[in-house]
Amino acid sequence: MTDDTRKIRLIMELRQSGITDTGVLSALERIPREEFVLSNFSDQAYENTALPIEQGQTISQPYVVAFMTRALELGPRMRVLEIGTGSGYQAAVLSKLCRRVYTVERYRSLLRQAEERFWKLGLHNIVTKFGDGHRGWPEQAPFERIVVTAAAPEVPEALKEQLAVGGVMVIPVGQSGANQDIIRICRSEEGYSSDRLLPVRFVPLVEGVAETI
Ligand code: SAH
Repeated sequence: MTDDTRKIRLIMELRQSGITDTGVLSALERIPREEFVLSNFSDQAYENTALPIEQGQTISQPYVVAFMTRALELGPRMRVLEIGTGSGYQAAVLSKLCRRVYTVERYRSLLRQAEERFWKLGLHNIVTKFGDGHRGWPEQAPFERIVVTAAAPEVPEALKEQLAVGGVMVIPVGQSGANQDIIRICRSEEGYSSDRLLPVRFVPLVEGVAETI
C-alpha cells in the first residue's frame, strides 16, 4: 500500500471518529506525517497511533492532533502559541490554518530537527523558541490561541496571562502516567471558564529546559 492510500484511509477513519471539519481534515491531508516520525517507524506513519520520537518523547496520535486542532477553532488571521514542539507535526498542521505559529520546546535537538522539517516543507509561518514552556513566550503575547501538547497537573499561570481576552487554550491536565483530560479554557472580560473535552495520555510538561543537547 502506498503512503497516499494509507493517508486516505486515515482521513476516512478520522471522519468516522467524528472529526468532520473539512479545514482540519485537509490540513492533516496536506502535512506528510512520514517526515515527522523516526525512519524505522515510517511504515506506521499513517496509523492512528502515537509513535516514539527522540528523547523518549512521542508524536501524538493523529486523532488527538485533529481533535485539539478542531477544539482551537482557528481563524486564518490568528497567532497561535504551541508548547511542546516535539517532532513539529502539530505545529505543521496548525500552520495551515492560522497566520503564525510560535512553538516552544525544552530539547534543543528536537527543536533543530523540527526546524529542518519546517524548512524542507516550506512552512515559513512557524517560529521556534528553545525554552521552558511554563513561561510561554512573553515577548510575543498575547496569543489568540494556545495549545499545550504535554500534560501538566495545573494550567501554568503564565500561559493564562498570555492568552488574549476572547482567546482559547487547549491543554491536557492531569498527573503524568495517570488519567488526564484535554481541557478547553476560554478567556473573556469577566475571567476564565473551562470545560473538559477528552480523556487522554500525554508525556509530562517538565519544569526547566533539558541539559542534554
Ligand atoms: N506537539 C508534538 C508532541 C510532542 S510530545 C508533536 O506533534 O510531535 C511533547 C513535547 O513537549 C516533547 O517534545 C517535550 O520535550 C516537550 N515539553 C515537555 N515539557 C516542556 C516544557 N516545559 N517546555 C517546552 N516543551 C516541553
